[in-house]
Amino acid sequence: MEDKETSDLGAPLYVAWQITNECNLACLHCIEESGPGKAFKDELTTEQAYGIIDQLVKSEVPYVSFSGGEPMVRPDFFGMVERITKGGVGLKIETNGHYLTKENCKKLKDLGIKAVQVSLDGASNASFNKMRVHGRFEEALNGIKNLREAGIPIEINFVPARFNIKEIGAAVDLAHEIGAYSFYTGKLMFTGNAVRTWGITAPDEADYPEFFATLKAKTDQYKGKMRVYYHEMGLLDELRYRLLNPAALFIILPNGKVKLINALPFTCGDLKTDTLGQVWAQFQKAWQSPRVSAFIDRLAEDPNIVSRLHQWEEGWPIVLYTLLGGAAAVWYVGPPIRWVYRGLGETVIGLSYGPWMVLGSLHLHTHRFSWGALLASLVPGLLITALATVNNIPDFHQDRLVGKKNLVVRLGRKNGRVLYLALSALGLLIIPAGIFAGLFPKLTILAALAGLPLWILSLRHGRDTWDTPRLFMPAIRSIVQCYALTTALFAVFMGLGR
Ligand code: SF4
Repeated sequence: MEDKETSDLGAPLYVAWQITNECNLACLHCIEESGPGKAFKDELTTEQAYGIIDQLVKSEVPYVSFSGGEPMVRPDFFGMVERITKGGVGLKIETNGHYLTKENCKKLKDLGIKAVQVSLDGASNASFNKMRVHGRFEEALNGIKNLREAGIPIEINFVPARFNIKEIGAAVDLAHEIGAYSFYTGKLMFTGNAVRTWGITAPDEADYPEFFATLKAKTDQYKGKMRVYYHEMGLLDELRYRLLNPAALFIILPNGKVKLINALPFTCGDLKTDTLGQVWAQFQKAWQSPRVSAFIDRLAEDPNIVSRLHQWEEGWPIVLYTLLGGAAAVWYVGPPIRWVYRGLGETVIGLSYGPWMVLGSLHLHTHRFSWGALLASLVPGLLITALATVNNIPDFHQDRLVGKKNLVVRLGRKNGRVLYLALSALGLLIIPAGIFAGLFPKLTILAALAGLPLWILSLRHGRDTWDTPRLFMPAIRSIVQCYALTTALFAVFMGLGR
């Protein structure tokens, strides 16, 4: 089983990296919904991209492809190419061919590119230009000519549509004529831009048998001269096969997130925050996830669900965090629960601003849970619970009169004073505990040290004034400042990782 083989590997054998979602064209069938102005807002910076390249090199990943969008529109494209090829990784470029000038082809050749794949959806101006909005058939052909002159191996990719499917024989002949060594094709997928344009792009199902028969004949005709690859398998069959035989290949998106396979809306890690080794381990586990097999089963019943490939399946945890946050906000004073009237208002505030917010954000970005993050979330969580408690001390009589059963009403003001001081002290003490456990960066101690004088000030002001609201105000102010300063510094030093 290939599944077993992948678990024996320390890194993927092939990485398909979509280095940008920006593109000069806006093709009718584009699976990535790329186009002018379609770069992701959070695409990898040059520094982040170089960091990933260095990991690929270090892990001895043998082969990588750069695609997009149009990869050659990234300003640091040649820098990335140079860094990865100099590191000894075999690199292929997948492009629409419009930037393959003589000069660029020479640079690619000098940098040791293994192959360039150009999309050629048609053997005529009319069909190519119709499919490739803003594209020019002649320019793509010219780019391929420049590749040939530079001595770079050429691959051609062809996507069938209603208006070009009958040109398949001519397209294979053209690929051979212009010097390609491989030709790839398969069925048009119902996803990305094709969902919107299906009415004008989808071939008649009845045309496919002839399409594949022509490809079979062309495979024989060009045997030994050019390889013709085609997938007759529908998407569902292919995914079922992949479920049993996951390939040692993953896809990096322009923002560093990693997808299992293009046809599934699942990410399994984020190379902005995780190492390649972590993502590789998560990738292997993700293929065993019941969510993945359930999605493929759902696809059998409803082929249209792949039309939502770009709506990531974040899974039940994110739904749970969202519901918890909603329940806290809606029912804080609202019926039927009214947390604040049940003595649970402070706790709900602490959970919302602490664990739910931190763990929800962590899951959204990395799809993981971490005990370190849970401990870190207790710093803002406990401090804000203390703040909510101290704030109720001057309102003790009014709250009691209107039936609020908050913690101060339940425990009395004197005990409420002990509670807020204990909660805030605990919030500060979590920081050295996390450092001691090796979970927090050492510099976070500065956050605790900054908050400590304010906590002492609150203790001094509030120790004997809890029954006189006017005199108690400085105690509240100090805890508000303690919360704001400690959590801000804690977040900064956690972010710096030092
Ligand atoms: S050239 Fe490729 S990436 Fe660009 S819009 Fe067309 S299919 Fe999408």
